[in-house]
Amino acid sequence: MMEELLSGIYQFRAQVFHREKDFYSNLVAGQSPRTLFIGCSDSRVDPTIITQSNLGELFVLRNAGNIVPCYGASNGGEPATIEYAVSALGVRDIVICGHSGCGALQAMLNPATMAKLPLVKSWLNHAEATRRIMEENYSQLTGAALLDVAIREHVLVQIENLQTHPAVAVKLQRGELTLHAWVYLMETGDILAYSTEDNGFASLTQLEPHEATKRQVANVRKAKREQRS
Ligand SMILES: [Zn+2]
Repeated sequence: MMEELLSGIYQFRAQVFHREKDFYSNLVAGQSPRTLFIGCSDSRVDPTIITQSNLGELFVLRNAGNIVPCYGASNGGEPATIEYAVSALGVRDIVICGHSGCGALQAMLNPATMAKLPLVKSWLNHAEATRRIMEENYSQLTGAALLDVAIREHVLVQIENLQTHPAVAVKLQRGELTLHAWVYLMETGDILAYSTEDNGFASLTQLEPHEATKRQVANVRKAKREQRS
């Protein structure tokens, strides 16, 4: 495996880096990504690949289960990364992207599987709201159907959690930030996006581009402000 990484490093430097020298030298000056992308650590779900983004375009936060702990609930890297992306880099969009077949959510639904993974178990406590929603509102579902719904509900819970972060709340109120709840489907390469307008998920690739760009989590505070004025 290390040999594969090494040969990849040689190949990158010798071919890609040298071929696109100007592009890579421009990156040295600094970054100004437009988007904070929060996704799962799963090796099959690489944000830059599934969105065909380039270096410098996505500020990425990945962890097991694409979890955003509520503000104050964790002193880990998550809140610092969110604050930096929003307040220092000034990203305009935040995407929270779950994915089909997520092992973290599978574990959350089956806590017994984490008996020997105390740190995973403790991390997934941040997803307790999702677990409870599934237990109390979807008790009729089992297996794959249960997991699919849990993955969708989970990204929406993380959108709620995200809004407890002061840096995010401030920008939302100013209308300078848009939130997106996505689910990547490994089976088809498609992405489902939630829209507050129809309170559901729809495929971004099946929609007309102007419809697809509109699919977002409505900025509740902005809507309220416009109502007032
Ligand atoms: Zn996952």
